[in-house]
Amino acid sequence: MQFIDLAAQYQHLKDKIDARIQTVLDHGKYIMGPEVQELEKQLSDYVGVNHTITCANGTDALTLALMVLDVQEGDAVFCPTFTFFATAETIAFEGATPVFVDSNEDTFNICPVDLEKRIEAVLADGTLKPKAIIAVDLFGLPADYIALRKIADKYDLKIIEDAAQGFGGEINGQRAGSFGDIATTSFFPAKPLGCYGDGGALFTDNDEYAELLRSYRVHGKGKDKYDNVRIGMNSRLDTLQAAILLEKLAAFPQELINRNKAAEKYTQELNTTYKTPVVPEGYVSSWAQYTLVAEDRNAEMAKYKEQGVPTVVYYGTCMHEQTAFNYLGYQVGDFPVAEKLAKSVFSLPMHGYLNLDANSEQ
Ligand SMILES: *Cc1c(COP(=O)(O)O)cnc(C)c1O
Repeated sequence: MQFIDLAAQYQHLKDKIDARIQTVLDHGKYIMGPEVQELEKQLSDYVGVNHTITCANGTDALTLALMVLDVQEGDAVFCPTFTFFATAETIAFEGATPVFVDSNEDTFNICPVDLEKRIEAVLADGTLKPKAIIAVDLFGLPADYIALRKIADKYDLKIIEDAAQGFGGEINGQRAGSFGDIATTSFFPAKPLGCYGDGGALFTDNDEYAELLRSYRVHGKGKDKYDNVRIGMNSRLDTLQAAILLEKLAAFPQELINRNKAAEKYTQELNTTYKTPVVPEGYVSSWAQYTLVAEDRNAEMAKYKEQGVPTVVYYGTCMHEQTAFNYLGYQVGDFPVAEKLAKSVFSLPMHGYLNLDANSEQ
């Protein structure tokens, strides 16, 4: 049994993916070829936004979003401490200050109550200017955008939705990638929608942001890439990756159903033994991870290992405990919920071709 079985997916889609790759090899437009535009159109339709701008990876997508919002030195950007490093890294990379926020114990996502406390603390201190919130759809479950939007409006903050894990999730029928002022995702192979290398995208309804993003991703281009009107980056999605993603996106709705079936089965079997994932009313998770909470996680993971079932810890270290963020001066105990989660979570195998019936030896 594999934790994420990319080979099974490829076997399923092989003929279509191979044909798509061959088409690109034949036309030879490896950078910004027709498949890139085709994918951006289809992603916009799927997510339900006006604009999709693909880029080189999910980390660049976050950086580009921060550039568009003009985040800079002296700005505070609020993000969960229980997340993948890139969420916080990009804030610091832009010269701004990440301000960490504790998690909700049930959803694992950013806690709106703690967020408001941290915003008030930054305002009281007066050194930094609160600018934006990066909310993460952790493990596939959208963050509480209803509460977050109220807070953002109250304090005049922008929201970036980090949907690297959330692509395919929903709140009341609205899809992940459409909740922030700008949203980002990653096509890293292990994400819910992954390509065969690095890739990423941004989603927005804002025409001005979209135009800026298209400029920033190609060296701050104006009329063309030799007319440079601002400092940008080189962050494009390869045509080959776009071609692969077109076939993977076509298969994604069925894979999402399969993931949800697998998650339901896990929950039925395990909810008496562990704290199983909570999906609030009206929410759909894309199940980037199926994550359990156990007091003695090591013992539980060892039991699964004996049965040939791989498990992984996402994430064992909160952002405020990372060496790279020592300079921010946080203490152990500053984020009690997130710290507890980091010590007690572990994830089970999850992908779109998981057949739990065939593994009845579990
Ligand atoms: C994977 C991930 C990223 C970064 O995506 P890359 O494509 O690997 O750069 C950012 N945020 C979260 C929450 C992620 O899981």
